[in-house]
Amino acid sequence: MSDSQLPVDSDNQPFVSVKAILAGHLFLPYLEVFQDSIHLPATSGSRVPDFCFLINHPAHGQALFDLGLRKHAKGYPPAMKGTLHDFKAECDEDVVDMLHKDGIEPEQINQVIYSHLHFDHVGDPTPFTAAEIVLGADAQTLLADSYPTNQDSYIQALPANRKVTYLDFSVSASHKYKIVSPIGTFDRAIDFYDDGSLYFVDSPGHSPGHIAALARVAPNNFVFLAGDTCHNRECYVPGTRLISEENYADLEVARETVTRLVRMNKEVHNVVTILAHEAEREQDMPQFPADLKEWVVEEIQKRKAKTGSVEA
Ligand SMILES: [Zn+2]
Repeated sequence: MSDSQLPVDSDNQPFVSVKAILAGHLFLPYLEVFQDSIHLPATSGSRVPDFCFLINHPAHGQALFDLGLRKHAKGYPPAMKGTLHDFKAECDEDVVDMLHKDGIEPEQINQVIYSHLHFDHVGDPTPFTAAEIVLGADAQTLLADSYPTNQDSYIQALPANRKVTYLDFSVSASHKYKIVSPIGTFDRAIDFYDDGSLYFVDSPGHSPGHIAALARVAPNNFVFLAGDTCHNRECYVPGTRLISEENYADLEVARETVTRLVRMNKEVHNVVTILAHEAEREQDMPQFPADLKEWVVEEIQKRKAKTGSVEA
């Protein structure tokens, strides 16, 4: 066992269920995805999915990790108009519509957790009236200057009168949550339910306060919801293509985070990664209302068979 292994199951370990919800599509120019493509015109690119995730804990209930796009891409701050056009944002059925089809109403969601505050992840939080909103601490700087107070801002203010929790990964600042450091190949995470079932992982670089989610879905089997750590599978497996300088708030930090993701996929054999815009996942992964558990377990068995690693 190398040092980069993930925390092992405890006695009576609780698990979470994770379901992938397709909440729209976007057009991503290659120049925003790969460093080797920055010379290409912005019209050269591909249509990618926009995933968010329903996470269900046996005792703590249901949470959403990201909300995807707003329905018909309507209701964004006016400054977003050009961006919505350039990215060809499409969303005929939003996360609320998708949940409703399976008998889940927005009031039943206890937490909305944002990987980061970009338009294709924030969706419309207003129907989730009972939800605590959870964000990485550095996202606060963006909300401090948000629309409509700043009419020119791309970032929409959160609905009023909500409980908002900022996840601070520095040990000294965190009284409420247990910090796990390191976690796999990443530097630090918060054990959200304090039982090892769901961690939020510090994964900075793309946008201030960017976080990923690491969910324990079966005995010592994990799924890693990497958000926009990178925007294409080739950037993390095999990891041969470098992320573009065009799409990351702090490029150096973002590349370091991607390096950790590349290493995790090489060194840690009991985890499956899903990027928010990973095109292949639209085909190779079961979607809502299907539970990801069986698929994750199968993918991990396949990886272990390939690498010849011994069952822990
Ligand atoms: Zn995104």
